[in-house]
Amino acid sequence: MKASETLEQIIPGQVFKEEVLSWAKRINVEPKEIRLRLMKSKWASCSSNGRLTFNTEILQQPATFRAEAIIHELLHLKVPNHGKLFKNLMRAFLSQNK
Ligand SMILES: [Zn+2]
Repeated sequence: MKASETLEQIIPGQVFKEEVLSWAKRINVEPKEIRLRLMKSKWASCSSNGRLTFNTEILQQPATFRAEAIIHELLHLKVPNHGKLFKNLMRAFLSQNK
């Protein structure tokens, strides 16, 4: 991939945060804070007090990938585990991503 192609795909952090907020509305959760920082081994994390952190490298990922990571973390504000309910909600919201 050429550098110019890579650059075109990177979205600004502010746009990403707006994506997170619009999903938060649909999922009906309120993240306390949305942060972006470089993370070594994961795409995102969710603290028990409602702060979400996303790896800045997610800005270079395709929209569908971003949506999945966003929905995953936001759902943790409702469901703290990856059980059956989490999986069902995940599937339901992903199907809205069209
Ligand atoms: Zn998770």
